[in-house]
Amino acid sequence: MSQNRPGLPSPTLSVLTEGYWKAAGEGRLSLQRCGGCGAHRHPPTAACYRCQSLEWKWDDLPGTGTVFTYTWVEHPVHPATVDYVPYNVAVVELDGVEGEPVRLATAILGVDRDSLVVGLPVTVDFDPTGDGVALPVFRATG
Ligand code: ZN
Repeated sequence: MSQNRPGLPSPTLSVLTEGYWKAAGEGRLSLQRCGGCGAHRHPPTAACYRCQSLEWKWDDLPGTGTVFTYTWVEHPVHPATVDYVPYNVAVVELDGVEGEPVRLATAILGVDRDSLVVGLPVTVDFDPTGDGVALPVFRATG
């Protein structure tokens, strides 16, 4: 895995989020899945939103989805993003999810203002930030 956007800071890991970031570092998009009712959820939480079970495991998804919404950032809000403006921040609704839709805040790489549209089919890619973790990002499918 090569860095698509060198210099971006790594996420802060916690007991609940560590599995998500490390799976991404291994090239997998993995979400919490409830051991009681099977619902996926994100961001990670201790209990299921649907049945309140505290049992869960990581579950790999196919890594496809569609753009739910997006915006273009014109002014860098962090020194690490100075070289990347304008860049997009997008919300992707993931395929293969049980329960309520799971929408991920992310970025769509390799698109421009004409090609990034709501409903665009996308496939996950991973942007390593070091220490064995990566940021899940997406590219247009096909
Ligand atoms: Zn549940």
